Amino acid sequence: MTPDTLFPDLEWWLTVTEEISMRNGVDDPTSGPKLPDGHHERRFHGFLEAAPDAVVIIDGDGVIVQVNGQTEKLFGYSREELVGHALEMLMPERSRGSHVAKTRAYTANPQTRPMGRGLDLFGLRKGGDEFPIDVSISPLPPEGGLLVASTIRDMTSHRRLEEELRQRTHELEEADRQKDNFLCAVAHELRSPLSVLTLAAQILRLNPADTTVHEQTLGMLERQTSHMTRLIEDLLDLSRIRCGTFVLRREVVDLRRVFIIAVEMGQPLVESRKHNLEVEQFTQPLWVSGDSSRLVQVVSNLLTNAAKYTPKGGHIRLSAAREGEAVVVRIRDDGVGIPKEMLSRVFDLYTQVNPAGGSSAGGLGIGLTVVRQLVELHCGTVEVTSDGSGQGSEFVVRLPLLSNGSDAEPNAAPDPAGT
Ligand code: ADP
Repeated sequence: MTPDTLFPDLEWWLTVTEEISMRNGVDDPTSGPKLPDGHHERRFHGFLEAAPDAVVIIDGDGVIVQVNGQTEKLFGYSREELVGHALEMLMPERSRGSHVAKTRAYTANPQTRPMGRGLDLFGLRKGGDEFPIDVSISPLPPEGGLLVASTIRDMTSHRRLEEELRQRTHELEEADRQKDNFLCAVAHELRSPLSVLTLAAQILRLNPADTTVHEQTLGMLERQTSHMTRLIEDLLDLSRIRCGTFVLRREVVDLRRVFIIAVEMGQPLVESRKHNLEVEQFTQPLWVSGDSSRLVQVVSNLLTNAAKYTPKGGHIRLSAAREGEAVVVRIRDDGVGIPKEMLSRVFDLYTQVNPAGGSSAGGLGIGLTVVRQLVELHCGTVEVTSDGSGQGSEFVVRLPLLSNGSDAEPNAAPDPAGT
């Protein structure tokens, strides 16, 4: 079939241009001056080539009689390779049989209609790749027999965006759910110490002159307020880190001093749980560039966790070693351990392996998130290993080592403590 026999009258191209213009969002494609005969075909080709989608025209037998440049680009075939061949060559093998039957049914009752809605349609490129498509078909009634124009849109990026959107929505729902749980946990964590404080006030009121009771009650008050302070400090740190307003006060720090303070801080819990804490004795200084109070926070958090998640009378060991350009701090316990599938998640916000209780001594699942962020702010890494439940855990912090105090920033004086 030659192009002359394809487009013999104005009605045809008006139908096609209407279809194409509808796809392109043009309101009234028939408006404007009618071109004199002889210009129709050129005009039609103009529309065909300007279409953003592939347009394939087939005859009543499903044989391709005309394509535009977008079809060549989309499917990877040249015009010559397509014209005269069955349309099925552009479809995956599995859709071909049903397509022949559908074409037959369509030619019996041809109407303009979208085909892709609700269907998973795929095109097949010359190289054999499949890709999702949306198809709209429209009959072109020529005098010499039925022609059908298929407008084919590549839906690859559309589907990818849909998938990304689905994934993102799922993540946001999950984050929302976690935040709800977290608010619940915060309320719960703050309620317990607050009720102890209320009780303490009543005890003091009822026993104004009993110094022994005063002493015990004050101890209780101190423990509960320091618990609440720790929780609130963690929350504040987290929000500062997330808002990017967290500032490290860097100086040259000897990690041995950090260990001394962190151990002092963890001692009451270690003792109350009757653990055996072994701290390696370091003869050489372990210089790093960092914020000493934040490094104390990292080590004491890991020590406290080791004490919390180890049944009474357990063993905890704090050690450190130079490895190449790094100092590697290890905090090992023989406690409840961490199941393999949770190892990569324990540093994630709000993650608790056993939130409902077990050996948990309370917490919000944010401590390790803060630890990781602080270590990363020091250009270090933190990892955990465990052989599983009941097998203990080991947290390993790596920090860049200063070979001696001389790599320090200009204003920082070497920290003499602990040396
Ligand atoms: P929290 O202790 O407040 O729950 P963390 O962020 O410090 O929150 O710890 C997250 C979770 O990781 C804990 O709930 C616990 O399940 C697990 N975990 C942390 N440290 C240890 C450890 N030394 N042994 C076993 N599990 C641990």
